[in-house]
Amino acid sequence: MKKSIALENISMKFYRDGNEKCVLDGVSMTLTEDRFASLVGPNGSGKSTLMNIIARIMDYENDDTGKIIYNGFQSEKKIGYVWQNYKDSLLPWLTVEENIAFPIYVSPRSSSDGKELARKLIGTFLPDISPKAMIYQLSGGQQQMVCLLRALVLEPDIMLLDEPFAALDQQRSWTTALHFEKEWSKRQIPVLFVSHDVDAAVLLSDDIGLLSKKNRKITKCINNTLEHPRTLDMLTAKEHILCRKEIIEFLHSES
Ligand code: ADP
Ligand code: MG
Repeated sequence: MKKSIALENISMKFYRDGNEKCVLDGVSMTLTEDRFASLVGPNGSGKSTLMNIIARIMDYENDDTGKIIYNGFQSEKKIGYVWQNYKDSLLPWLTVEENIAFPIYVSPRSSSDGKELARKLIGTFLPDISPKAMIYQLSGGQQQMVCLLRALVLEPDIMLLDEPFAALDQQRSWTTALHFEKEWSKRQIPVLFVSHDVDAAVLLSDDIGLLSKKNRKITKCINNTLEHPRTLDMLTAKEHILCRKEIIEFLHSES
């Protein structure tokens, strides 16, 4: 059975200073293991909130409604989450390899050698960095890569990536995205990728949900029909340009 996560009519309100604020109002989308999914929307449209709901970090309360149906998973799901505020999520007193291996140290059921797995990932994604380096010795982009590798180390069943390449320059963001796509293709799992880099979102994705701040829901899901594996040449392919155009028009309509 294919692994999938069906979001059905998710609504969420926050209460602040005695006021109620509806952030999501009937969001629906399906994430499937064999389709790379992204979410694009303006700041404050609820992208991180939706990820937290999927990860069950944020639970429904009171009159929040909707359903999340997880299909094809064992009862326990490992979630790889790259946080938007990556700097706050790293442990500065640990080395790079210790940060990456951290989920293994704290996982009661894991018997793997965390540092060895961490070094393998560093060799593939961060070959110029010593596993023994401290976090403060890394650039912002390299720190963000450490967060990505820490999410990969437990071989998760679901990946949630909240602007994971935001600190990388454009070219590096695309090449890292394609590197990540290669990892994902080896062991496909449902994934949700949030990015303000429209090209990175289109380059990676099969499905791109447009999350509207005005309507507080996903108003459209765009499909990129290009084959996997994707390549940098595809950034100028007709299919890519058409998806890109539709997303840019959507973002303009939201501003
Ligand atoms: P995005 O990730 O799309 O930029 P967020 O999901 O972070 O948007 O936030 C959506 C809206 O919800 C924002 O207006 C934000 O201020 C509000 N919000 C997020 N988390 C909380 C919270 N814990 N309490 C109150 N309001 C919140
Ligand atoms: Mg966010």
